[in-house]
Amino acid sequence: MVKSAAAPESLSNGTAKRLRKKTESTPGTVVMSTVVCYQCGVQFAIAHRAASQHQALAERQAIWLADKFVWDHIQESNHQSLIQLPGSREMK
Ligand SMILES: [Zn+2]
Repeated sequence: MVKSAAAPESLSNGTAKRLRKKTESTPGTVVMSTVVCYQCGVQFAIAHRAASQHQALAERQAIWLADKFVWDHIQESNHQSLIQLPGSREMK
């Protein structure tokens, strides 16, 4: 496991960020979709780099993320506040 501070340039497949009271925007990124965990109501924004927006990928990532939330609850682990999203090849 390598822990690194992710720079926006490296977020090639986009990120999901936990939303707080206000919608926060990260410079250089565009919110493609929001996903709500139906078990705890937490809301995440799926963001892609402004230069590489991909709506179809964002829709698949939303499904992937909802599934991850279910697993987080099954495993009783907290949702991360920032989730690195997989690319289309990593989602089967
Ligand atoms: Zn949840």
